[in-house]
Amino acid sequence: ARLELETDLRRSLRDNEHLRQKIHDLQLRGEDYSALNSQFPVYYQPIVDLPSGRIAGFEALVRWEHPQRGRVFPGEFIPLAEETGEIIPLGAWVLEEACRQVRQWQQQIPGCEHLTIAINLSGKQFNQLDLLDTIATTLELTQLDPHCVKLEITESVVMDEVEAAIAMLNKMKALNVKLGIDDFGTGYSSLSYLHQFPTDTLKVDRSFVSRMEQGEDKRAIVKTIIDLAHNLNMEVVAEGIETPEELARLRSLACEYGQGYFFAKPLPKHEATALLHSNPRW
Ligand code: C2E
Ligand code: MG
Ligand code: MG
Ligand code: MG
Repeated sequence: ARLELETDLRRSLRDNEHLRQKIHDLQLRGEDYSALNSQFPVYYQPIVDLPSGRIAGFEALVRWEHPQRGRVFPGEFIPLAEETGEIIPLGAWVLEEACRQVRQWQQQIPGCEHLTIAINLSGKQFNQLDLLDTIATTLELTQLDPHCVKLEITESVVMDEVEAAIAMLNKMKALNVKLGIDDFGTGYSSLSYLHQFPTDTLKVDRSFVSRMEQGEDKRAIVKTIIDLAHNLNMEVVAEGIETPEELARLRSLACEYGQGYFFAKPLPKHEATALLHSNPRW
């Protein structure tokens, strides 16, 4: 089954490279490419500015629309793509598609001029120097302001080889993109290194958020992570907000941003577009 999935993934990605080329061609000629559907659609989950309750941006989350199996979630195919190296073209696709989409929203929807996009990078992508070229080329192609792009790397990836990671993060920073540490608290972090990372954001893993209402000691952990981030001049995104109680709690802890099913699930692009038009306030 695994071998089959691997073969399918390779085939789907090859098809996707053709689609990508087609989009480039149409875009170059100024023609409409919106009817072209990828087998790897990017979904968008809102990230809410907690003080104002407005959408600040989105996180891009990829899906695989398998011709036979239907929708496959990243937990199932990202690890496989990492092992086979296919994460490189897949990651480049997500980056490009998400940047193109956000640029379009910025241009077409009033009030969305500063919309941001968070994009996940896997360890394999992060450890390739080519990544810098890919980012630069994509920003050039999509004309998106680099300040609106936030690249998320998980805690375990940056902690794997700290010195090399710091060097890479600094090179990325030189492209003017924003950087975030994802799933903070689930891995093993050496606190003595944390201040050396040129990162702008820390994302508190949703396991901490969901345990918050269980007691004062659980809340103390979230408060401590938020305070730590603030002391290091980083902003905080809380993942996995599902209830109004969690939202209120995080607001009282001065957490800057929130993300979770309470606001919205990851949405296909037309639903995200509709949500932006409705200009919600939480
Ligand atoms: P992540 O970056 O930590 O993304 C957040 C995950 O939590 C998403 O799962 C999202 O749907 C889910 N989530 C958000 N809010 C809630 C909530 O309130 N409750 C619960 N129970 N879950 C919530 P998803 O989309 O299945 O993605 C899983 C992981 O796969 C991501 O975790 C990320 O590490 C990876 N991933 C997704 N897209 C990409 C991609 O394009 N490239 C790479 N390298 N990894 C990706
Ligand atoms: Mg993420
Ligand atoms: Mg996360
Ligand atoms: Mg997570």
